[in-house]
Amino acid sequence: MLANKTALVTGSTSGIGLGIAKALARQGANIVLNGFGDVEGPKAEILALGVQVAYHGADMSKPAEIEDMMKFAAERFGRVDILVNNAGIQHVARVEDFPVEKWDAIIAINLTSAFHASRLAIPAMRAANWGRIINVASVHGLVGSAEKSAYVAAKHGVVGLTKVTALENATSGVTCNAICPGWVLTPLVQKQVDAKAVALGVSNEEAKNVLLGEKEPSMQFTSPEELGELAVFFCSPAGNNVRGVAWNMDGGWVAQ
Ligand code: NAD
Repeated sequence: MLANKTALVTGSTSGIGLGIAKALARQGANIVLNGFGDVEGPKAEILALGVQVAYHGADMSKPAEIEDMMKFAAERFGRVDILVNNAGIQHVARVEDFPVEKWDAIIAINLTSAFHASRLAIPAMRAANWGRIINVASVHGLVGSAEKSAYVAAKHGVVGLTKVTALENATSGVTCNAICPGWVLTPLVQKQVDAKAVALGVSNEEAKNVLLGEKEPSMQFTSPEELGELAVFFCSPAGNNVRGVAWNMDGGWVAQ
C-alpha cells in the first residue's frame, strides 16, 4: 500500500517509534529512522522487511538539527510523505519540585519538535497533494495525571497542534491526526514500573499490575505493533477524510 512512499519517524530506535516504523515498512514505505542508542539493530529490522532505510541522529530538542534531518531525508528519498512525530521523554515530579531544565527539555522534545518537523514537511506534501502527519500524543493529551505537568502540558499541546495542522490542510490530500496510547511497556514506562517497585517494595510484575490497575481497566499494555497498525490505517485510502482526531488506544483509560 505504501510502496514508493517515505516515512520519517522521530524517536524510532526504540519502543513505539520502532513499532510504527516497522508497520509502515511492512506496507512498503522506505524509512528514515531517528533517535539515540543502538541504531544498527533497528536498521537491520527495517531492512529485513525489504525496504530502504536511512538514519539521521538529530537531537529533536535542537531546531537546526531537525532542519538538517528534513533536508537529509528529502535529498535521500526525494520527499517525506509520512511524518510521524514520536520522539518523547518523561519526568515525574510535583510542580513545585519539577526541575526547570526537565520542563524545558520535555516541552522542546515532546511538543516543539513536532511543530518544526511539520512546518518543514508540509510544503512538499502539499505540492504532491498527499501527505500524512501522525503525532504520537498520549492519553495525557486528553486527561491529566499528578506529577506529570510538563508531559501533560506538552501532550495537550500536541493534540492542539494536530487539530490546527489538520484544519489548515483540510482541503488538500494532507491529513494530520494524533495517536493517544495508554500504558505501553517501553523503556519510558519501564522506568516508572521500576520506581513503583522500589517505592512499594514489590516485585516488577506486581508493580506492573499496580500501574495498570490505577488507570487501565483492560489491565493490559497496548503494544507498539497495535499502535503501528493504527498508523497504517491513517495512511490508508480509508483514512483520507480522517482529520484532526486524537484517537486513544488505552484499554478504557479515558472512558472512565
Ligand atoms: P522510548 O523511550 O522507548 O523511545 C523514545 C524514543 O525517542 C527513542 O528512540 C529515543 O532515542 C528517542 N529520543 C529521546 N529523546 C530524543 C531526542 N532529544 N532527539 C531524538 N530522539 C530522542 O519511549 P516510547 O514509550 O516508545 O515513547 C515514544 C512516544 O510515545 C513518546 O512521545 C511518548 O510520550 C509516547 N507515549 C508513550 C507511552 C508509553 O506508555 N510508553 C504512552 C503514551 C505516549
